[in-house]
Amino acid sequence: MNNRNLFTLIPKVDELLDKENIKKLMEFIPRKIVLDSIRLEIDQIREKIKKGNITEEEVLESINSLEGSIEKTARDKNAYKLRRVVNATGVVIHTNLGRSLINMKTMDSISEIASNYSNLEYDLDRGARGSRYSHLEEIVCEITGGEGAMVVNNNAAAVMLALSTMAKDKEVIVSRGELIEIGGSFRIPDVMEQSGAKLVAVGTTNKTHLRDYERAINEETAALLKVHTSNYRILGFTSSVDSEELFQLKEKYNLPLIEDLGSGVLIDLSKYGIEYEPTVQDSLNKGVDIVTFSGDKLLGGPQAGIIVGKKEYIEEMKRNPLTRAFRVDKFTIAALEVTLRYYLDENIATREIPTLNMLTMPLEEIKNKALKLKRRINRRIKDNSFLVDIEDSFSEVGGGSLPLEKLASKSIAISLKDLSTQEFENNLREYTIPIITRLYKDKIYLDLRTVREDEFNIVVEGLEYALKKVKEYKQ
Ligand SMILES: *Cc1c(COP(=O)(O)O)cnc(C)c1O
Repeated sequence: MNNRNLFTLIPKVDELLDKENIKKLMEFIPRKIVLDSIRLEIDQIREKIKKGNITEEEVLESINSLEGSIEKTARDKNAYKLRRVVNATGVVIHTNLGRSLINMKTMDSISEIASNYSNLEYDLDRGARGSRYSHLEEIVCEITGGEGAMVVNNNAAAVMLALSTMAKDKEVIVSRGELIEIGGSFRIPDVMEQSGAKLVAVGTTNKTHLRDYERAINEETAALLKVHTSNYRILGFTSSVDSEELFQLKEKYNLPLIEDLGSGVLIDLSKYGIEYEPTVQDSLNKGVDIVTFSGDKLLGGPQAGIIVGKKEYIEEMKRNPLTRAFRVDKFTIAALEVTLRYYLDENIATREIPTLNMLTMPLEEIKNKALKLKRRINRRIKDNSFLVDIEDSFSEVGGGSLPLEKLASKSIAISLKDLSTQEFENNLREYTIPIITRLYKDKIYLDLRTVREDEFNIVVEGLEYALKKVKEYKQ
């Protein structure tokens, strides 16, 4: 058959639209997407014929499987871009994978608030306009011991709002050792510039002394800023000035002291064998006037920036026009309220807040999960080229928090015989629910600290899928 005749074998769009399978597809996928998929699949066959590198048999084969290909394309096109994944990396606060998770009870609260009207900005006692900032202030103050508090979109916004309110067009003194970049282009010097405050960097990269701060103070000085060097540590010949010492200076010169704590831990993590991380309460106790921290790092809540401290500054911030731009939405307020309430009882917090739960998970529990998953995998996948082991590993806190901390953990280690582990890892990522793993020295690692038991089915099926694909790839 010549090319011209091959074209006539391709079914018409209308014919395809009439097929039972395609009609069924349109019951849950918008017609436009199905139509686009039909055209795309037909065009692909046309292109091949045009290029002349396809036999009649192959054309017929493509046409035979056309309905299946259309369905797959349509399903792919119809899938949400933002999707759940399985985090098997062992990095608990994984910024690229959405940082902290929230539990179902928190979800229920979000859903109740979002699908109904609420008192978001309504004072139920007075029957008049209220403030969205009122809902969280009491609980933040109760937990941290602060006088006043407000919540904005994220911690970057919190820092900017604090500086803009307290130091616009004035100088703010900060140590050179704390001029950090957090990632995602959050750099302290840039944020300061945007806020309108003038940065005065003192000391050197590795050493800053109290006298360095003191020498820089003049009439233009509006505040002292301390930034938690969340994601890196300077080791060796170093010294920095603690908030406690800065407090002396602040008192002497009557200047406010602001601290960007980054992670915002509210409980003493050293009890759980994790390196001690200064808590928000510590900073306030040391006399810091304004503390800012993230809602979705070690706190384990939704994305938010929490500002807590002296009431006079908080009230001023609420009046700053930037507040409107940084304002927190009702989903966040709902989720944060549930999360913060857990902190009224530390045992409840570590049980209910997924981030804390994973970080404080006993090794024994992780080991048991690993054994269970290994059994499930072995029962399902019987293949000589696929080997499963349990190995000791280390999880990370992540989120730029406690960068040196290595948490002893257990991982499923998969090795493949004569098959590409890189290809296998790619396949895991393209599975219906992508599985994100670590590839190290030609083995695939799944750290059980960050994988829940209710995800085991997905993992087993994903592994099965990836193995099948990697074998096809080899052929
Ligand atoms: C993470 C971090 C930020 C940014 O917080 P976001 O909530 O991501 O905006 C700012 N400062 C420090 C010290 C941080 O660790």
